Amino acid sequence: MKKDAVFIFSEEQLGYSFSDTHPFNQKRIVLTLDLLKKTDAISDEDMIVPRIATDEELLLVHDPKFIDIVKRAGQGLISDDVGSVYGIGTEDTPIFPNMHEASAMLVGGTLTAVDEVMEGRAKYALNLGGGLHHGFQGKASGFCVYNDSSVAIKYIQKKYGARVLYIDTDAHHGDGVQWTFYDDPDVCTLSIHETGRYLFPGTGAVTERGNGEGYGTSFNFPIDAFTEDESFLEIYKTAIEEVAAFFKPDVILTQNGADAHFFDPLTHLYGTMKIYEQIPRIAREIADRYCKGRWIAVGGGGYDIWRVVPRAWAHVWFAMKQLPAPTGRLPEQWLDAWQAESPVPFIETWQDPDPLYEPIPRKVEISEKNVQMLERALHMIRSQQ
Ligand SMILES: [Zn+2]
Repeated sequence: MKKDAVFIFSEEQLGYSFSDTHPFNQKRIVLTLDLLKKTDAISDEDMIVPRIATDEELLLVHDPKFIDIVKRAGQGLISDDVGSVYGIGTEDTPIFPNMHEASAMLVGGTLTAVDEVMEGRAKYALNLGGGLHHGFQGKASGFCVYNDSSVAIKYIQKKYGARVLYIDTDAHHGDGVQWTFYDDPDVCTLSIHETGRYLFPGTGAVTERGNGEGYGTSFNFPIDAFTEDESFLEIYKTAIEEVAAFFKPDVILTQNGADAHFFDPLTHLYGTMKIYEQIPRIAREIADRYCKGRWIAVGGGGYDIWRVVPRAWAHVWFAMKQLPAPTGRLPEQWLDAWQAESPVPFIETWQDPDPLYEPIPRKVEISEKNVQMLERALHMIRSQQ
């Protein structure tokens, strides 16, 4: 019988760990899964153990030399100096033991999710260990070694011959995936992110539209710093609807970074839990309308791992299971289990307190600027109608 949704997880996903103090912390997945269990929203039958990606699969995207360097780095055989040519051994993306195996495990999780959906065993599949959208063909970048989404998209093309719409709502531009498919008219990338003016990686301008035959299938929606819920959702909803209607994908892959929240320490957006309730529900509607439901979701950024990420990522699963968004207090057992370990007091409810922060004087100006950006970003589609 076809399942509505599957959750890809194994403890081995936690092996992707740069250090105890690094902001990228996969404990987020454990916190999320435990929250779902204590909400009675997930059972053992929903869970699937990921496989590890093979070298052949990684080679669909990554250069052999880069893979070799990552393998040797993880065995302690590469200095930071040599590694840094390939983006590893840097402050952002330090070398750690068994780096290759851990990175290939995250890619394998996304490939496992792909097979579940494309072979019809599940309508939707979630791999929170994936979403490493800054990984390039021959270089690691921004906490990301191998790019699971890029490999998964190539894998979908090769094995299933399907057209993929990639939707990235991480606060950072989904650069690695965009550049990998920049020339490809059969892959459409859509990224909504804080403008690169002051934020890593600096790319993701409206004018990055694709190249050659792929011109017109790369879409960027750079929103202003301090953008709030209403404006974020207006841009996201309009963007996804118009781009999906234009591209008509066979399958959707969403990257669900949870770092656009007001609390996130690395970005300057002012989202609250309201955007995380809506983002996956809108994605599901689009997948149902255009793709017979085929929807694969991965994780991504998210650096307030205690107050933001578990609640935000739980909403992706609720959307997949078609459960209503819960209200009221988080399960007491979950709060009791983790509060002592958290360096900050929890938000103890599913929704954020309203208001979460002092009103912003530039709210109207920011929303108007975002709408102008949206019109420029969608100009090509709208002018064809
Ligand atoms: Zn991010």
